[in-house]
Amino acid sequence: MARVRAYVGLGANVGDAAATLAEAIRALARRPGLRLRGVSRLYATAPVGVLDQPEFRNAVVALDVLVKPGASPADSASELLVALKGIERDFGRQPRERWGPREVDLDLLVFGRNAISVERPRAGRSSNPAKAALPLTVPHPEAHHRLFVLAPLADLAPRLVPPGWDETVLAAADRQRAAEGDAAARAVAAWSGEGWRPLG
Ligand code: ATP
Ligand code: CA
Ligand code: CA
Repeated sequence: MARVRAYVGLGANVGDAAATLAEAIRALARRPGLRLRGVSRLYATAPVGVLDQPEFRNAVVALDVLVKPGASPADSASELLVALKGIERDFGRQPRERWGPREVDLDLLVFGRNAISVERPRAGRSSNPAKAALPLTVPHPEAHHRLFVLAPLADLAPRLVPPGWDETVLAAADRQRAAEGDAAARAVAAWSGEGWRPLG
């Protein structure tokens, strides 16, 4: 079966966010049709948008997605999005304000070399009414200017130029770090294969 390399961004800032992200990573690794190929460092990041809320923890994982014969990239990406939304639901994500506190947020950042914009299957829709009508868009349209995405993505794929970008992930991360400051995203732990090991 064909494989597509995908990158998924994870974020949380409710309860034990690091433990939640570790569990979400293990849940992804267990899913049929997905192979976990890499885990970035864990970052402590400043909230964006709604500033008056706890710091976030963010990470990115590299996945190989097994694509069913005949399935289009849009179909496969939609299927992955439904899986991500299912994991969010399993972690009890409540409908909340956009950019506000959350148990866990899983975003599809990159799906191989594909640029995708499609209507989402119902199961992939946001519980947030303001976003329910948005198409699935890949690469994730905000990834390019979010340090909390770029820093962990650069751990895994610094030389990648996602479709539609005019620079590498590392160049974008460096640019965004200069704009947001080093304090906006600090690496605090590394993946041990089973969980997070604090960086000393
Ligand atoms: P943002 O999109 O700015 O990161 P968010 O993650 O807080 O915001 P959600 O409430 O999780 O927003 O809703 C995101 C909506 O966008 C979902 O309905 C989802 O189906 C849709 N969506 C579109 N493209 C993507 C993508 N690449 N990854 C994840 N969700 C996407
Ligand atoms: Ca998000
Ligand atoms: Ca999301």
